[in-house]
Amino acid sequence: MFKKVLIANRGEIALRIHRACKEMGIQTVAVHSTADSDAMHVRVADEAVCIGPNASADSYLNVANIIAACEVTGADAVHPGYGFLSENANFAEICGEHGIKFIGPLPEHIRMMGDKITAKETVKKLGIPVVPGSEGGVDTDEDAVRIGAEIGYPVIVKATAGGGGRGMQIVRNESDIVTAVNTCKTEAKAAFGNEEVYIEKFLEKPRHIEFQIIGDQFKNCIHLGERDCSLQRRHQKVLEEAPSPVIDMETRMRVGGIVADAMANFGYEGAGTIEFLYEDGEFFFIEMNTRIQVEHPVTEMITGIDLVREQIRVAAGKKLHYSQDMVEFHGHAMECRVNAEDPFTFMPSPGQVTQYHAPGGLNVRADSAVYSGYKIPPYYDSMVAKLIVKGYTRDGCMMRLLRSLEEYVIDGIKTTIPLHIELLHNKDFQSGDYDIHWLEKFLDAHN
Ligand code: ADP
Repeated sequence: MFKKVLIANRGEIALRIHRACKEMGIQTVAVHSTADSDAMHVRVADEAVCIGPNASADSYLNVANIIAACEVTGADAVHPGYGFLSENANFAEICGEHGIKFIGPLPEHIRMMGDKITAKETVKKLGIPVVPGSEGGVDTDEDAVRIGAEIGYPVIVKATAGGGGRGMQIVRNESDIVTAVNTCKTEAKAAFGNEEVYIEKFLEKPRHIEFQIIGDQFKNCIHLGERDCSLQRRHQKVLEEAPSPVIDMETRMRVGGIVADAMANFGYEGAGTIEFLYEDGEFFFIEMNTRIQVEHPVTEMITGIDLVREQIRVAAGKKLHYSQDMVEFHGHAMECRVNAEDPFTFMPSPGQVTQYHAPGGLNVRADSAVYSGYKIPPYYDSMVAKLIVKGYTRDGCMMRLLRSLEEYVIDGIKTTIPLHIELLHNKDFQSGDYDIHWLEKFLDAHN
């Protein structure tokens, strides 16, 4: 097993990884920017190294300084968390060249899935259904018009290197396709350094349903069921639940089995998520994330499996601790992403947290690196906490989530807690009858 893991991240996920390491008897190294010298992950880690100034590009994305921090501290592995360098194949490769184990899949698998066009082609060959769309990228204006007509409007133009809900344009009429493709290319070039775009059918009322998988170095791969992440704003997830209110056990095991077998054949190592849009009983692959995800705790709550621990174990060359028939699902879990933002306009609200008190009680988990007196820096993601609860039933879960949200004290800044409370009072949300566009309509009606 590893002796020392360097955590190449910040915030709640850095703390989450630290916790898994300590429970396995592994020493931890925190890295941080100057702005984060007072951060909780820095306080709790066994060692801490400053890797650069405030801007992420100079610190959390600074490969040379992170590798140097590994060498100085003698860390034998790096956990990248999510965001930052977690899906950077070059970083994974450089770690390998320095004899440091990157806790994640092989660089070539990260690269393949990081390009959405290649990812779609790859999973299609492995027998996974994909959203109908262009075969590969769209080069010329003529191609755009022809492909748009073939697929049928509405369509969505997407950047192959896109992420974080950015680099997407919905097109409802042929007259707009050429402009949309060109705008998307320019934006993709600026944001991701790759202007390639593709077109796919725009689904009008799907749910976002994703399967958690984990594989080891011996071609074993299992699935841990699905998460429903249909509550989104600007293609970004706001609240997630597991299991999905619309997926039955037969479907879960059938589709989960297909993705786990496909990834076993592929030789996938580590944790991964296969994302689908689900409409009229059919699944359509959109992308794969080759890292731990923000919403992984809802799966942990209903399976009892520590995903970060498993990631570390398989990276160290151990066999998966679980076979598929050992994975059992109990109860229902939901996660609220708590952002330092106005709950309805989403204006960022960084600043000092004057009072912090997390809710507790049976089956309540608050993953956060915030503490009383902590100053939220304005340079990074606005998510400051995740509140995850489990109930025996979906209704029980909602009751517990509501009382936990009402107990949560984060004073001094605005947070999205009031939005979550309103959602939990909403009849459509309570019934489980919502699609990926529902939250935006709810917010329009509210504002
Ligand atoms: P990102 O990598 O930026 O998260 P994804 O490809 O995962 O991008 O898509 C994010 C979200 O965008 C989806 O959950 C869904 O809400 C919306 N979306 C993506 N593709 C389509 C599509 N073909 N039809 C309708 N909505 C889509």
